[in-house]
Amino acid sequence: MNYAYNFRLYPNENQRVLLEKHFGCDKCYEKISNQRKNFLQELSTRIIRENQTIIVEDLDIESMLKNKKLSKSISSCSWSEFIRMIIYKASWYGRNFKKVNRFFPSSKLCNHCRFVNHSLTLADRFWTCPNCFNILDRDFNASINIKTEGISGLACGESSGFMKQEFVTG
Ligand SMILES: [Zn+2]
Repeated sequence: MNYAYNFRLYPNENQRVLLEKHFGCDKCYEKISNQRKNFLQELSTRIIRENQTIIVEDLDIESMLKNKKLSKSISSCSWSEFIRMIIYKASWYGRNFKKVNRFFPSSKLCNHCRFVNHSLTLADRFWTCPNCFNILDRDFNASINIKTEGISGLACGESSGFMKQEFVTG
């Protein structure tokens, strides 16, 4: 059943044939695909309604999909499609949308003391900063760093070279 959750929102012709074979009919996977699209639509609308500024990390999806460990979770959550929805809704609702450059070390940077941990691996979900000894949740730490970087970019232009401005409205 795992396979069912790992196909793309918009399968190409070959993927479509495989999916039909797997599900036994062409309507079954369409139903799941539509449920997923609805979920992304609702989530993106909610994020846009509740926030004036949306800052995301400009992930290198193409290379990440080549990494087998990562590709499963990335393609199943349809990240590119989700970002596309966020971008056009941000322009509809007059929100600020910012991308933080993919070379910004969001995971490796300690949000307390700005120490960069070059020995961090993908398997490390939690780590202790060797400089300030704070225990950091990898994703939560990265999200704080992206927010800080994004806001500093908004306040003073292209501050540290890690910001990539998409558009700022309003
Ligand atoms: Zn630290």
